[in-house]
Amino acid sequence: MSVALVGAGPGDPDLLTLKAARLLAAADVVVHDALVGDGVLALIAESAERIDVGKRPGRGASQELISALLVELGRQGKRVVRLKGGDPFVFGRGGEEALALREAGLEFEAVPGITSSIAAPAAAGIPVTHRSVSPAFTVVTGHRRPGEPNIDWRSLAKVGGTIIILMGVAHRAAIAAELITGGLAPDTPVAAIQRATTDKQEVVRCNLADLGHAAVESPATIVVGAVAAFDLTAVGTLRANQAQQVIAAT
Ligand code: SAH
Repeated sequence: MSVALVGAGPGDPDLLTLKAARLLAAADVVVHDALVGDGVLALIAESAERIDVGKRPGRGASQELISALLVELGRQGKRVVRLKGGDPFVFGRGGEEALALREAGLEFEAVPGITSSIAAPAAAGIPVTHRSVSPAFTVVTGHRRPGEPNIDWRSLAKVGGTIIILMGVAHRAAIAAELITGGLAPDTPVAAIQRATTDKQEVVRCNLADLGHAAVESPATIVVGAVAAFDLTAVGTLRANQAQQVIAAT
């Protein structure tokens, strides 16, 4: 395999898979995103070329250019690692790059990573499912471009269980309003975990009615539902007591 689509996990290099670490150490060239943490980038072979194609507002390479770059590097027979935050196929556009490689007749290998949709809640002491409290979790993007199918937030409110929103910071007020219109209680617990598993991690806790006004910065994972009241990292605190009450009430 000349091109590997590799998940970098949520930030902490200890959350990388062994396979990802091995491929980074042996790579000729690493094409990476903005969200990949410095600790992970430090594991790249010193001799390897690094190409930052990070998409930040107003700059960064287009998806077409990135796919074309991967095809070109793959054709050169180099050991190419395409490194993406979290898991390559969870809102990572890994599928598009895999298709481009296949269409060019190139092999690729997918190496899953720990997605922030689960790792960020865990880092804040929130289990995405919990017996008697949440029997399901739904991972959804809060970011839509014109022409892409809309999320039916009101129906999502009726599914039950935990709702985990990625890329939802900009539209959080509208999303919260739709979920409340769909039937979720305004006092449904919410946690927004910013830069999870890095030394800049911050957790903002509020309820659904207040989410629009809460000070949340991107990148953040937003957790909506009863489990968002949990903080298993701080058992004995008010939050843990509230979680016990949630369990007792269900
Ligand atoms: N493929 C990635 C998601 C890419 S979309 C994955 O599986 O994790 C980018 C979004 O992921 C961000 O807007 C944010 O919602 C979330 N995200 C990525 N890294 C994060 C982190 N360290 N902490 C919290 N959320 C994060």
